[in-house]
Amino acid sequence: MAQLSPLLKQATPVQAARGEGVYLYDTEDRRFLDFTAGIGVTSTGHCHPDVVQAAQEQVGTLIHGQYTTVMHQPLLKLVEAMGEVLPDGIDSVFFTNSGSEAVEASVRLARQATGRQIVMAFDGGFHGRTMGAGALTTSGAKIRAGIGPMMGGVAFAPFPYAYRHGWTEEQAVAFALNELDRQLASTAPASDVAAFIVEPVLGEGGYVPTPAAFLQGLRERADRHGILLIADEVQTGYGRTGKFWGHQHAEGVVPDIIVTAKGLASGFPLSAIAAPKAIMEKAWPGSQGGTYGGNAVACAAALATLEVVQGENLVENARVQGEKLVAGVREIAQNRPAIGDVRGRGLMVGIEFVDAEGKPDGATAAKVHAAAAAQGLLLLTCGVYGNVVRMIPPLVVTAEQVDEGLALWAKTLDEALG
Ligand code: PMP
Repeated sequence: MAQLSPLLKQATPVQAARGEGVYLYDTEDRRFLDFTAGIGVTSTGHCHPDVVQAAQEQVGTLIHGQYTTVMHQPLLKLVEAMGEVLPDGIDSVFFTNSGSEAVEASVRLARQATGRQIVMAFDGGFHGRTMGAGALTTSGAKIRAGIGPMMGGVAFAPFPYAYRHGWTEEQAVAFALNELDRQLASTAPASDVAAFIVEPVLGEGGYVPTPAAFLQGLRERADRHGILLIADEVQTGYGRTGKFWGHQHAEGVVPDIIVTAKGLASGFPLSAIAAPKAIMEKAWPGSQGGTYGGNAVACAAALATLEVVQGENLVENARVQGEKLVAGVREIAQNRPAIGDVRGRGLMVGIEFVDAEGKPDGATAAKVHAAAAAQGLLLLTCGVYGNVVRMIPPLVVTAEQVDEGLALWAKTLDEALG
């Protein structure tokens, strides 16, 4: 008899039976308000009828149109539709299956396009778990401990995490950019750096919105040194932050390569990199690809997802409901010294738990997280020390459902912290 591998670590004890909109139901039909959205994936809500219909129709027509063997319509239509939401000049799209795989595709492309090796990532960043993407990941030791050696040619510079250092945002950005310059002039010679890879909101590393001035500083240095700027929009893309792409919060910044996954296909495994054709052309045809990349059902679901995101104004909804959620969470945090910081951009809201000395308090975050699930509110934790509770509702969340979440959150804190 086979058993589920103990390798899997599950954040909640919930056995999901079905999902509908912002709710998940367990095998006993108990309802949970799902403010995890499958780690930021089910932006259109669980089982949005348009996505279900598109996938069902495609399943009956062509499931596996293998893209290195034959081309198929859902993929071509999706590329065309994505052209409308990609920044001007980013006109070439390549599909993979997961966020990690797309990150690796972006690294391969950057190295081939520049002929350089070093990829510079930022402290606390999460880019995936595979040996290449994992090599860029520093959001927690568990991704790398006992696993190395991982992909080489990686350097790390500080991320401007103002709260944790007790700095203003300006101070944090100045420190991070100075340190980056020092590295480019010493340990990671600028002429050897192929790319910077950065999240427009630090995700698994603690839900810290990346300051616009930092992204602008990276863009400027990338231009100066012939380095490509990769925006890892796996979690921040597709409206999550209240703009279609997370990098759009930094005026004037257009990345060279955008990595997207998660919200792209409402739960079907699909990811992509997008870049100017002039960059894609520098890599060799056939140097990337895979058996399942650009799966026809996933592409059909992604096409329907994009229509829903646009047709139901979900980007604007993320902005409006995100502001409401952060304001509500801030109010509830008053007179609770265990909550050191509340921050958010769109529907990515982080609540940082600290001890009496302001140090990261992962134990309290874990206690609160478990108490929330017991109340029927599904949340996640993040942060290098696991001390940030995060809320990532589907982008379809309504004002009433945000209120429902806030009421459950207040009750959870009373229950867990007294
Ligand atoms: N990049 C970012 C920013 C992510 O948040 C994640 C997943 N949390 C990944 C990459 C990896 O995606 P996947 O788990 O689909 O491989």
